[in-house]
Amino acid sequence: ARDAVFDPDSWYAEEIERTIITEDEIRAKVAELGALVSADFAEGVLDSGDELLLVGVFKGAVMFMADFARALSVPVKMEFMALSSYGSSTTSSGTVRILKDIDSDVAGKHILVVEDIIDSGLTLSWLLKYLEGLHPASVSVVSMLRKPGVQRVDIPVKYVGFDIPNEFVVGYGLDYAERYRELPFVGVLKPEVYQK
Ligand code: 5GP
Ligand code: MG
Ligand code: MG
Repeated sequence: ARDAVFDPDSWYAEEIERTIITEDEIRAKVAELGALVSADFAEGVLDSGDELLLVGVFKGAVMFMADFARALSVPVKMEFMALSSYGSSTTSSGTVRILKDIDSDVAGKHILVVEDIIDSGLTLSWLLKYLEGLHPASVSVVSMLRKPGVQRVDIPVKYVGFDIPNEFVVGYGLDYAERYRELPFVGVLKPEVYQK
């Protein structure tokens, strides 16, 4: 439903052009993904006593990680990585540097990378190669959002929340100049925000 979009009295009402995904749609999708992933990993993948190792990517995936982890019915451990990809604030270059690495030994573990959005897929394809080098039992990916640009590299993203149009979005973890991450929905900024 497109009704309860956002509060017209909120501080951001004048800055958001429109909502792409509502808070209700996010909630329903997180529950759906949680059930799907739980079923897939419970069925003979996780040995008894094993956990699924969620690897969240700072900062954008934090909101999704928090919600998604609580929608799972298999036990998990959580790790976070911080990556810097050289490029402008609205595009990525694929040249990646690790600012914060995983803290634990992931050899033999089933890793699920938790991503906010996949655009070109360059950051993720770099990360998957890096993780494969740590000899986990498996690596798969869940991303809340995916843009059409993902075709630039062939990456296997098993679980996707929403395919969205090729526009720059903010909210639910995603920022513009470090702002808007806390918005509970995904939306598009008014052009004048970028021109400031
Ligand atoms: P990729 O390497 O797939 O092109 O881009 C990955 C990263 O770029 C995402 O994790 C995210 O931080 C940023 N990004 C890509 N598209 C968007 C977007 O539409 N909005 C925002 N806020 N960040 C994006
Ligand atoms: Mg990301
Ligand atoms: Mg960003």
